[in-house]
Amino acid sequence: MKLISPKYIVTVNPRRDILHNHSILIDENYIKKIELTEVLKAEAQNEICDFIDVPNLILIPGFVQTHIHLCQTMFRGLADDLELLDWLQYKIFPFEAAHSKDSMRASVQLGLAELIRGGTTTILDMGSINHSELVFEELQKFGMRAFHGKAMMDINEIFPKLKESTKQSLKSSEELARRFHNSAGGRIKYAFAPRFLLSCTDGLLKETIELLRDFSGSLFHTHASENKNELKAVRERTNMNNIEFFENLGLLHDRSCIAHCIWLNENEIGLMKKREARVLHCPSSNLKLGSGIANIPRYLKEEINVSLGADGAPCNNFLDIFVEMRLASLIQKPIHGPKALDAKTAFELATIEGAKALHLENQIGSIEIDKIADLVLIDLNQIHNSLDDAKESLYSKIVYSCDHSNVDSVMIDGKWVYKDRQFVKHDLMKIRSNAEWELKKLLSRI
Ligand SMILES: [Zn+2]
Repeated sequence: MKLISPKYIVTVNPRRDILHNHSILIDENYIKKIELTEVLKAEAQNEICDFIDVPNLILIPGFVQTHIHLCQTMFRGLADDLELLDWLQYKIFPFEAAHSKDSMRASVQLGLAELIRGGTTTILDMGSINHSELVFEELQKFGMRAFHGKAMMDINEIFPKLKESTKQSLKSSEELARRFHNSAGGRIKYAFAPRFLLSCTDGLLKETIELLRDFSGSLFHTHASENKNELKAVRERTNMNNIEFFENLGLLHDRSCIAHCIWLNENEIGLMKKREARVLHCPSSNLKLGSGIANIPRYLKEEINVSLGADGAPCNNFLDIFVEMRLASLIQKPIHGPKALDAKTAFELATIEGAKALHLENQIGSIEIDKIADLVLIDLNQIHNSLDDAKESLYSKIVYSCDHSNVDSVMIDGKWVYKDRQFVKHDLMKIRSNAEWELKKLLSRI
């Protein structure tokens, strides 16, 4: 057992308690007790227990990022200042098509190291069309909680080399789901991932829904209404907008996790609400690709689930959830006023709302008894942090003036994966130098 005694616990429980002088007792991978420190310490005296006294640190739930592309991490800085369709056609599709097994593994390791070091403990990740089995292997090795799925693409007019037949895409997705859905003791699950409408035939999309039914707890993960040129092409093909077309095909439901949703019309907002589909909001990516600003305050008012993700490294170029929380809040303020999307709301989008997006809210997303111990210790005593000690402004302190460098330790599934600013099992410099080497080889294959 482990007993953690921090300065504050930001619980994100239904009452949103922030606890002082409290500790949590972890048994295996579950949170067994949350009580006053003196009470729990006295109780634990007679147990075999690891006492973690951290009176200067804050304990928060592990962050959930619901839209990531680990396969793109090594392309950071190689696809800047482009709009979505050019970014895909001239950079990302050729890069992805050049991946070998070794470069895919290196890219995934690089991304996971960055995510964990920054306090992210759960991700929803979209792969490329090949080598997803290596993504699953690395997710298992790093101890990450994750949904992953290979990108499904049976059309690619802008880069025909990166696509498969409809049959092959469905077959390989199903095989991966059979092998990896609910693997690592249920920590790793499958998310079927038709890339976006322009890369999928109607037949592929419809069949994917059938597959989703065969794998209980799996998700449907896609992109939609990110960019005006994408929307124009969708309208030319379907005479409808993305979300309307998804509704027509029966793709819209509470397991539909849809990245971006920037350019939705009134009808589509109504459909998202009615079907309880999830919006995966990626503020950095939306700004960097010049895509637009999603009307998140409106979606929240409609009680549509919204969560956050860094998207891929080449359209961000960080995978830092603190950056996403801060930007999610700040970009709304010039439009909706300074009270829009406050720090507490941004923190909720990155924790409990992310858990809800993935249907994991009974297991993760908050610090409560019987939930899984996915936890982060953060240090708010850095030079760039507030000087006062008020617990009332803890959300502001975390969202507006922290970044990954404030993360001290990270626990996933009751195990420390990053402790005292060091990886327990991995060597960051080795991961980086290996990725540098693999990138050189990959670029020579294009
Ligand atoms: Zn994406």
